[in-house]
Amino acid sequence: MGKKSNTRTNKRIHVLVVEDEESFVEALNIGLDREGFDVSVARDGQEALNIFSRDTFDLVLLDLMLPKLSGLDVCRSIRNLSDVPIIIVSAKGEEVDMVLMLEIGADDYVTKPYRLRELVARMRAVLRRREVHEQDDLVDEIIEQGPIRMDIDARRCFVNDEEIKLRKKEFALLRLLLENPGRVLTREVLIDRVWGNDYVGDTKTLDVHIKRLRSLIEDDPKSPIHITTVRGVGYRFELTKSSS
Ligand code: CA
Repeated sequence: MGKKSNTRTNKRIHVLVVEDEESFVEALNIGLDREGFDVSVARDGQEALNIFSRDTFDLVLLDLMLPKLSGLDVCRSIRNLSDVPIIIVSAKGEEVDMVLMLEIGADDYVTKPYRLRELVARMRAVLRRREVHEQDDLVDEIIEQGPIRMDIDARRCFVNDEEIKLRKKEFALLRLLLENPGRVLTREVLIDRVWGNDYVGDTKTLDVHIKRLRSLIEDDPKSPIHITTVRGVGYRFELTKSSS
């Protein structure tokens, strides 16, 4: 999470793009190459598994509707073999069970049509999380995201450099969201990780805590831009948009 660079930064990232629509393949080949990714392409589910088994990848971008094997089947199969980050791509209007996708091991998802910049931001976020996870001992004890800075050791939190007072569960909840920027966290995961067995009865407890966090960190808590609701699934801490 820190700003320190590490040895991986200079390496080109190898992405397996699983996509059967030629217009998307072309756009991704060009766009991702420009962003510093090496791209391999599979045009159906079976080809995806074949290519995946022959090479090493840093990330898989996986379309859901594919010839031969569905994206869900491909995701399950890859997950049985590897921890590689997987981002699912679904088309607008497709019936998508997001909870299921997260359960079978997808790291994130995007919906077509997407903007390349947003896709790349999500890809980088997923890769960053993986790196942090792998180097757990080296993680900075300061977490920064957008206007928020959390000092984990000191248990202090700042919004635009002004300290806000958080209760224990609020602090744990915000930390979990900040550690997973751009990623949907399901209600189940949030409750399990923050409350565990302490979570009793009222299913509104999580929402009450989210509401309180929003009142502290959002300019307009009724139209939140940092902690957003993914309806029927959970919550997400939005990636900070670049100003360009
Ligand atoms: Ca497709």
